[in-house]
Amino acid sequence: MRCPFCNHEESKVTDSRNAEQTNAIRRRRECLQCLRRFTTFETVDLTVQVHKRDGSYEDFNQEKLFKGLDLACLHTRISRQQIREIVSKITAELIERGVREIEATELGEIAMKHLRHLDTVAYIRFACVYRRFKDVDELKIALENIEEPANASEEI
Ligand SMILES: [Zn+2]
Repeated sequence: MRCPFCNHEESKVTDSRNAEQTNAIRRRRECLQCLRRFTTFETVDLTVQVHKRDGSYEDFNQEKLFKGLDLACLHTRISRQQIREIVSKITAELIERGVREIEATELGEIAMKHLRHLDTVAYIRFACVYRRFKDVDELKIALENIEEPANASEEI
């Protein structure tokens, strides 16, 4: 880890702890040359790439997913702690799958599946962004699906 001040290659770790907001490990480092201190965040290397609608790829990013969910959950009963749990679950799901890439739409569907269990309003907001409903009818269908009692279709 190069020092951001003098570019020296060696530094020593003075403190190491779990970051509060993410799954990262936060480390305080001290440059062995200029003795200045800086902070680094260490996270699990997720080699999953998200294939976006426009055809481009971007690395799966927990923080980005957290922000998207956080926005959808504004003024709902879902706490940030619950959102963090959802992000952790989705991340675990991706790691367990062992896939190299995932479609952005599929990632959205997975997130919606988790939100749906917790809060209807947040679910709809998130669904609106991810599914980009073409028209009002699609939104209606989504709403009808939510109101449908659980297991109703499975018992036929
Ligand atoms: Zn330095």
